[in-house]
Amino acid sequence: MLHLHAKDIDRAVAALQRGELVAIPTETVYGLAGDATRDDSVARIFACKGRPNFNPLIAHVPDLAAAERLVEFDPVSRRLAERFWPGPLTLVLPRRGDCPVSWLATAGLDTLAIRVPDHPITLELLRRVGRPLAAPSANPSGRLSPTTAEHVLAGLGDALAAVLDGGPCRVGLESTVVQVLDGQAWLLRPGGLPRQALEAVAGPLAQAEAAEQPRSPGQLASHYAPHCPVRLEASQVAADEALLAFGPLPLPGARAVLNLSPSGDTTEAAAHLFAYLRDLDALAPAAIAVMPIPREGLGEAIADRLQRAAQPREAT
Ligand code: AMP
Ligand code: MG
Repeated sequence: MLHLHAKDIDRAVAALQRGELVAIPTETVYGLAGDATRDDSVARIFACKGRPNFNPLIAHVPDLAAAERLVEFDPVSRRLAERFWPGPLTLVLPRRGDCPVSWLATAGLDTLAIRVPDHPITLELLRRVGRPLAAPSANPSGRLSPTTAEHVLAGLGDALAAVLDGGPCRVGLESTVVQVLDGQAWLLRPGGLPRQALEAVAGPLAQAEAAEQPRSPGQLASHYAPHCPVRLEASQVAADEALLAFGPLPLPGARAVLNLSPSGDTTEAAAHLFAYLRDLDALAPAAIAVMPIPREGLGEAIADRLQRAAQPREAT
């Protein structure tokens, strides 16, 4: 696989136009991108990740005008898009009758998840390709999401044409997924845009009960998983465990320690989360013990990812 730099954007555009896959930088995590309008490209994305094909993909576009050519906006969704795009917010909206996005990308649903990513390289790429790009995270399904080009290379090997290196991801967590139904905004997946910011624009968010049929088909219980076990809310740590610490007082006694945010800042912690889980996992400890992290700000999305990382593993 080629490791491309910002100046190599022409080669990435050409690869995508040939139907090949390119890993792209975004502010959330690296994406595995292909032309969302081509069935062959979208099929390649599912195969490359080993992703179950009932789990629909997010389409990436350069601006709101490009989104309006694919989906129908209600007033609340439009306000959210105007306020938060480009940024870590995905909106689930009805496909337009003439929407050219592959039905494989939406897993047969008549809605499309769509966003405008906030990264200069990828925005330029999207403008130049002139097609929406389907892009799930650029990692084998079920594993930790990549926040650097090196993570992508380590996980997907030679299965894609190129990785476009845009440096470490600023936010470090996948986008927040929202769907507005009859004026009410539903939180389908917590992510890089915190609840408080959304509620300031859309009012209180509704959230599906665990018992309900999941509204977001890809929300598997086990996901974002390192190889070793993960133990949450640790109040002590064993000598053969690695510690993922948070705040000024890391627990003593671990084999290895990485601190997500010594100052106790959930935004800083989010940016480090996946990279630190990878680094500790590479030491093959008995387990990764994780200290409690408050739910404020990005803490809600961090808790969601850690819950899934700690679940017994499902076959995906
Ligand atoms: P990922 O590509 O791993 O970041 O996952 C995309 C997320 O968006 C998954 O949780 C999907 O279930 C969700 N998603 C994508 N398309 C739709 C859709 N049409 N309706 C509801 N959720 C969706
Ligand atoms: Mg993913």
